[in-house]
Amino acid sequence: MTLDIARIRKDFPILDQQVYNKPLVYLDSAASSQKALSVLKKEEQLHLEYYGNIHRGAHFMADQATNDFEAVRDLTKDLLGANSREEIIFTKGTTESINLVAFSFGEAFVNAGDEIIVSEMEHHANIVPWQLMAARKGAKIVVLPFDDHGRLEIEKLDELMTSKTKLIAVAHVANTLGTINPVKQIIAKAHQAGVKVLVDGAQAISHLKVDVQDLDADFYVFSAHKMYGPNGVGVLYGKKELLNQMPPYQSGGEMISEVTFQKTSFNELPYKFEAGTPNITGVIAFGEAIRYLQSLAMDEVAAYEHQLLEYATQKMNEIPGMLIFGTQKEKSGVITFNIEGIHPFDLGTMLDKMGIAVRTGRLCADPVMDHFQQPATIRVSFAVYNTLEEIDQFIEALKKLVAMLS
Ligand code: PMP
Repeated sequence: MTLDIARIRKDFPILDQQVYNKPLVYLDSAASSQKALSVLKKEEQLHLEYYGNIHRGAHFMADQATNDFEAVRDLTKDLLGANSREEIIFTKGTTESINLVAFSFGEAFVNAGDEIIVSEMEHHANIVPWQLMAARKGAKIVVLPFDDHGRLEIEKLDELMTSKTKLIAVAHVANTLGTINPVKQIIAKAHQAGVKVLVDGAQAISHLKVDVQDLDADFYVFSAHKMYGPNGVGVLYGKKELLNQMPPYQSGGEMISEVTFQKTSFNELPYKFEAGTPNITGVIAFGEAIRYLQSLAMDEVAAYEHQLLEYATQKMNEIPGMLIFGTQKEKSGVITFNIEGIHPFDLGTMLDKMGIAVRTGRLCADPVMDHFQQPATIRVSFAVYNTLEEIDQFIEALKKLVAMLS
């Protein structure tokens, strides 16, 4: 292991602080990770030195900002192993990327009576846009279930996929169960039946090595704020041949080539899908998040986070009444749990007062909560900057609270 976690933590100075007079233990990176110092410095540098609106070629600073913005498209292409820069669309996040595909793919390819398969473990962002599209087009949502360990029952795809199936929407890593889904296998199965696949990579991109060509994903989406980058930036990767057949999602400046009151012609990829002034600062700073990720060996990041996961899981299982939701072997650094007889909100609030930041609630995944019949849960999630000592602090706090509240 060559990852130097003490060194990495220096890149996230926000972690080195006290809350309620207790050392902060940040275990909520699945909701949003903290931002690397280089990302914050880039935002500042842009605003102090060369900010201007992009793609207008109007002046020196605008040109420099445009070059940097477009360079991040190349960086993103390399990060994903995409075939061409035209396949990288900047959005404001995973949610917008999925809405874009649901709308535009729906317009181009979905007809009344068609079906979209959505896995049972999806975040609401990968459910509701498909429902709205299905309602508009007269299509139907079909659910691909998971078992009680949080394993997606992909063998059921054989019966669920029919001649009417147009697309499968599935998370690479589930934000509740932590399951790492066998997306390459799912895509291969889908493609045999002529079905396209959208992979929600929001919880995967900063934890696993992703290669969209190796996966053969049709669409792959994620948010910068979960990968040590800024808020308000997301990516949609889409295969060029599909994006070219899909109509624009939003319209306005930038996405046009010529406008008259009689007729408008649209710009080429990727600009066809980037209407209006984008998040210039965010995208340029996102480039630093990509560079940061690329400076870490992803195999080592995955192995280290797995070590955190196993250590925490083992310690948590020693606590009486512990219920962990998602016990698949192929799992990322997310543990969603409850303790019998204790309300998750009470536990979450008291953990917070002890300096431990966790997520409580339904985790934007009602179907997962319903599967396990839980009104709410607690989630801890790990990133490369977390340590075994922090897990010890969390476990110690948890044990104290359980003794007090049971
Ligand atoms: N999908 C998954 C799996 C997620 O974890 C999240 C964020 N919690 C989203 C989609 C939505 O991401 P965003 O809010 O950044 O659009």
